[in-house]
Amino acid sequence: MKHLKPFFFENSKIPVWLSKLAPIEISTITLFCFVFSRSSISEETKRHETIHFQQYLETFVIGFLLIYLFDYLWSALVRKKGFTRDSYLAIRFEQEALECDKFINYLETRKRYSWLKYPLGGLDSSEKEQGR
Ligand SMILES: [Zn+2]
Repeated sequence: MKHLKPFFFENSKIPVWLSKLAPIEISTITLFCFVFSRSSISEETKRHETIHFQQYLETFVIGFLLIYLFDYLWSALVRKKGFTRDSYLAIRFEQEALECDKFINYLETRKRYSWLKYPLGGLDSSEKEQGR
């Protein structure tokens, strides 16, 4: 399962349509085993979206969607970051994918449930500056 990759669709209209519903502009989105991008997909973005696909597998698909929404709302409402890009960046699935998508071998060495290492609500900017 660790070596499974999703199916990639480039130059798709799906991110364009979903951006009309979402609070952020979506360039690429992973819906379980399908990745849709407005344009061509770089190797780094392929790794990013494959990390999300592995997270989907670990949480039986529905768990990914529920935790993704829960983390976003937690940051927006409890941590009072609002419905902003900061709340999106604080989603634990995104914290892992954004930090690790630049490492070429990450998917081969990644441990299951690695996203659980990241703090719910993300780090405050003051904590980030201290490197915690
Ligand atoms: Zn992502």
